[in-house]
Amino acid sequence: MSTTRENLPGDAAQFVLDTFLTLVRIDSLSGDEGAVAERLRGYLHDAGCQVWSDHVGNLLARRAGHGAGGMLPPLLLSAHMDTVEPGHGIQPRIVHGVVRSDGTTILGADDKAGVAAILTALRQTNHTGASCCPVEVVFSVQEEVGLVGAKHLDLTQLAAKTAIVMDSAGPVGSIVARAPSQDTMTIEITGHASHAGVAPEQGVSAIVVASKAIAVMRLGRIDPETTANIGVIRGGMATNIIPAHVTMRGEARSLDEARLAAQTSHMRECFETAARDLGAKVEFWVERSYSGINLSPESAVVKRVSRAMAATGVAASLISTGGGSDANIFMGAGIETANLGFGMMGPHSVEEHIAVADLEQAASILIAVLSDPQG
Ligand SMILES: [Zn+2]
Repeated sequence: MSTTRENLPGDAAQFVLDTFLTLVRIDSLSGDEGAVAERLRGYLHDAGCQVWSDHVGNLLARRAGHGAGGMLPPLLLSAHMDTVEPGHGIQPRIVHGVVRSDGTTILGADDKAGVAAILTALRQTNHTGASCCPVEVVFSVQEEVGLVGAKHLDLTQLAAKTAIVMDSAGPVGSIVARAPSQDTMTIEITGHASHAGVAPEQGVSAIVVASKAIAVMRLGRIDPETTANIGVIRGGMATNIIPAHVTMRGEARSLDEARLAAQTSHMRECFETAARDLGAKVEFWVERSYSGINLSPESAVVKRVSRAMAATGVAASLISTGGGSDANIFMGAGIETANLGFGMMGPHSVEEHIAVADLEQAASILIAVLSDPQG
């Protein structure tokens, strides 16, 4: 990892680690990002940015370019501020060059390592006075609960047509070239309530209808590009009442639109068939949560990021993911977006960790992107 040290000056290496450790110690579960946003406001201001927040709590910033980069179009850098459970009172520790939690919480490298790398790149390109393109920043809220912040972002506040999102698991050097589209479903089954002991013949159990439907439904991994899940089920009042209502929430994702449509209609059919067979009613609502990503290796943003990676001694590698991120929302809005991996491992678990060297390398890559005279 000598390459890392050569590319990231000593005080920047210290800054990225200190900033990361500071940020993970500030609780910021989804919907409760206020304290971390306040701290980030200070960091952004110190890096020479104009900073503001929007009506849902997203933190936005911009900074003019300088040197040769001053004439380039702006680049958007983005990461999310919220973390998942268990995320209260995170106590980071460094063991053999790897940052972990104390084992009772997540670490929050997802996505505060991304935030720290962005802040370090902004600070470094501000202090050195070297060439830097104009920059816009979005630190979003509630990414983990359905990309809520990004979906509510007023994109007319941004001029950038190119973006880098720092929010992918996987090694430094990975660029998400493909990510799925997702449909989210809400299903309501209405049967008929009756006394379970006195007159069960007069009841239609919504729970039985739901279970018959789910038992024949294709779920989990459908094919290499498609997944599906029923994740929430609620219903019933008491053991002596045939349950009249069940509500469920589910999802399907695919890298392929036709396969997604087929899976979503298969799930609908399973519920409708079971309801018809047993004399219940079903309502099935589908919402497009986000659309997929299909980034060409020849796209300008992939080339730009690959150049920066090469300059810092890292080989770029295009990857496919099953997860959605704010990058899906930016892409859907016509902003060409590369979501980068930066070495966070085991996100959404108490085993989550990141190597200090990877954190530094991620910052190095972003500095090289911002300083790239070609833009
Ligand atoms: Zn994330």
